[in-house]
Amino acid sequence: MADVGAESRRRAYLKALEIDVYAMRGKHAECPVPEIEAGASDLTDYPAPDWTELQTRVSACTRCTLHKSRTQTVFGVGSRTADWMIVGEAPGAEEDRRGEPFVGRAGKLLDEMLRAIGLSRESAYIANILKCRPPNNRDPVNEEADSCRRYLDRQIELVAPKIIIAVGRIAAQRLLQTDAPLGRLRQQKHYLSDGQIPVVVTYHPAYLLRSPTQKRKAWQDLCFAVALMNEGAK
Ligand code: URA
Repeated sequence: MADVGAESRRRAYLKALEIDVYAMRGKHAECPVPEIEAGASDLTDYPAPDWTELQTRVSACTRCTLHKSRTQTVFGVGSRTADWMIVGEAPGAEEDRRGEPFVGRAGKLLDEMLRAIGLSRESAYIANILKCRPPNNRDPVNEEADSCRRYLDRQIELVAPKIIIAVGRIAAQRLLQTDAPLGRLRQQKHYLSDGQIPVVVTYHPAYLLRSPTQKRKAWQDLCFAVALMNEGAK
């Protein structure tokens, strides 16, 4: 029997996202919500760092010049056994101040996006390509992204998610090591270089705040990811 409560909650979340639920007839009309809410390291390093060691290394990192301007590093947050991992670009001002990813306005929208597919912020694992805020929120440069990559790779190894959602062009391009535009990366199943973990690409919530008419496309991307998970993602 259909769970009427779950359906009405989903509609409430979609409404909060300002997505017109009646516009979703057709291919993506049914976006099944998962029933159960889920509660390259430095390869020269052996054994590879555990969570405590990794967090210590990140907080003391001086591998690129961003350490000079940061208030603190922004490691990652959420369930360390999550099925869903969200990867963003880099901390902004609020994240740099609070030491947690996606806590500003974009973070609130990200939380809504997760709730729309039946996930809480706590049940996913959320991290960024960069652990330090670039001055004036400029795009990461190669040296910064390359220096930080080992940390994200080890986080991915430790979480071992069933799926990764890359939010925004920078996160997607850096994660997948491609120059392809976001429009071509969406609605496709990508894999990390290890070939194991599927990656789905969608818009960055900060962009969606500026361009709310694109929220419908982000919703399609989330539905695409849910469908992959339902068919056993890996
Ligand atoms: N944007 C990001 O990509 N990451 C954050 O943590 C905050 C804003």
